[in-house]
Amino acid sequence: MRKNKRFDYAAISVLCSKKGENFNKTKEFGGARRVLTGFYKWTVNKYPELTIQSINREICLEYIRSKVATFRLNPTQKDHSFITFSIRILNETFDMDIADSETNINEPFKVVCDKCNTEAKYVDSSVIYGRKRGGMRYRCPVCGAHVGTHDGTSIPLGTLADPELQKYRKYVHTYFDKMWKENGWTRTEAYKWLSEKLKLPSEKTHIAMFDLATCKKVLAILGDNKKTESDTPDIDNETLKYHKYVKYYLSKLCKDYGYDLSATTDWLATNLSLPVDDFKIENLNVSMCKRALAIIGDARK
Ligand SMILES: [Zn+2]
Repeated sequence: MRKNKRFDYAAISVLCSKKGENFNKTKEFGGARRVLTGFYKWTVNKYPELTIQSINREICLEYIRSKVATFRLNPTQKDHSFITFSIRILNETFDMDIADSETNINEPFKVVCDKCNTEAKYVDSSVIYGRKRGGMRYRCPVCGAHVGTHDGTSIPLGTLADPELQKYRKYVHTYFDKMWKENGWTRTEAYKWLSEKLKLPSEKTHIAMFDLATCKKVLAILGDNKKTESDTPDIDNETLKYHKYVKYYLSKLCKDYGYDLSATTDWLATNLSLPVDDFKIENLNVSMCKRALAIIGDARK
């Protein structure tokens, strides 16, 4: 007979009693519940006889190690944070002392230099810069190309870069950030735009992953974009569709009520809390367009 009864609720109330009365109002509480439910679901198949009393360090460690194994196949900073958080929650709930270092969560990954086809060494930043600068880095022992790691993890930020590529990635970053900020786009919108321009999947559209040719291509695209900045920015169809809606309903409002289009455009800018002087519908993102449509709709009432 299966004894493994749903123990996650019991476990979370154990944790609540340790953390004090307002714990269930904190953000951590939601996360802790996810951890304990995930752990319970894993034990159901693995240890059908398990009861809350028989949970021990070995079982918890085995669970964490299985999570780490999955994480290492496709490492992200988000998953890293969730696993280290899970270790802490299991420790606190079941009075244990599992350390991150008992798993291979922070061990170096295999990073190979594209140019030399050599495996990079995992070194302290002081080896490269002569003093500490950021965390650990991966460095090619042949050509010296290197790359940093995501904060507090051993996850490489991208691919190895020699000094020339580093210089180019820096340029791209500078111009790209400047472009999307000037256009009033969000970072996510900007990367979506770039991945479409480069015909690259979004998970490959990261400046730290670009080679020299891609960096040069992006700089050319950004240059082109600058020239046509005052015209319609080359953005996704969704945004273009919204620009059309806003223009259509704004001119319809003017026609129906006999308003002056230019004055009404200024009125819209003011209502969106945007400067009237360089206001352009083409510069609005989707959420601003939606607000504009609501404002126009209200004016008709
Ligand atoms: Zn190399």
